[in-house]
Amino acid sequence: MENIVIIGTGSAGLTAAIYTARANLSPLVLTGNEDGGQLMLTSDVENFPGFPEGIQGPLLMESMKQQAKRFGARFVTSLAKSFAVNPDGTITVTTSDAKPIQAISAIIATGASARWLNIESEKQYKSRGIHTCATCDGAFYKGKDIMVVGGGDSACEEATFLTRFATKVYIVHRRDALRASKVMAERTLRHQKIEPIWDSAIVSFAGDGKRLTGVVLKNLKTMKTKLMKIDGVFIAIGHVPNTGIFKGLIELDEHGFIVPKGSCVGTNVPGVFAAGDVADKKYKQAITAAGTGCMAALEAEKYVEGWKEKGDFQ
Ligand code: NAP
Repeated sequence: MENIVIIGTGSAGLTAAIYTARANLSPLVLTGNEDGGQLMLTSDVENFPGFPEGIQGPLLMESMKQQAKRFGARFVTSLAKSFAVNPDGTITVTTSDAKPIQAISAIIATGASARWLNIESEKQYKSRGIHTCATCDGAFYKGKDIMVVGGGDSACEEATFLTRFATKVYIVHRRDALRASKVMAERTLRHQKIEPIWDSAIVSFAGDGKRLTGVVLKNLKTMKTKLMKIDGVFIAIGHVPNTGIFKGLIELDEHGFIVPKGSCVGTNVPGVFAAGDVADKKYKQAITAAGTGCMAALEAEKYVEGWKEKGDFQ
């Protein structure tokens, strides 16, 4: 029987691993498909405290992993395929290699994946002109022309934030009105630097092989296409929380995010905690994920201790 199984190795999972390992609980950590989480897709991270010159996302994640290993965290390169609560309250996670792992406590840190457009050349220019996080990458576009895709609150928030750096921000939306909350939509459309491009979609990206240089836009009413030069594109069409295997067991909201219960990292199942973007549709920052990873670890530590004191642990 494991003390704690941590599912996910983004900033939340790795912070939870550092804390639970330092508490001598020897956590077992499942990496999943996206080992290192969303920061593996970012280049410079300039807002994670402690790095005055910034740090590369992948290096930050690798450093956190090494830090957790130093204190005894064990990593398994495997995807959690199923999740069950046993009659005695312990948890069983089955991995992609069909190994069941039984644990007293679990920390879910499976994150949320940004939705992408899945169109031509998108992969090629990811982090080299195409991004999904303005807070992370907006500062690289000082004095540039950029484009935000989407019509919800996220798109409005990203576009407004990007006006701090960019000369011009276009919002490309497939309808002729934003679906964002009224106040947010009005504020966005009032902004002098923001210009909407209605009824339109990006159908492909253009670049010089190294960086994005433009997009091919299609007007969905006239069906006409045109090439438009642009320095950067921020895709803000929503995030998908990675909670598929928890459906029916862990309470989720209408978007699939875990609903906090009790403490802000608790769930409806005792001993199961949630940290990071899997339970956060608002802040979605590496540092807030790390913060909740720490909180989940401290809660899990207390839970395991209580379980052992009760004498339920063999
Ligand atoms: P959202 O509300 O689901 O909006 C997604 C937008 O992306 C929609 O306008 C949608 O178009 C568009 N879209 C989806 N797939 C697309 C595709 N393949 N190509 C082009 N466009 C596509 O997502 P969100 O803006 O991330 O918000 C998610 C939740 O978080 C919402 O409840 C929101 O209110 C909340 N949120 C709140 C705040 C805040 O309060 N500060 C900030 C951010 C998010 P259609 O309109 O045509 O469907």
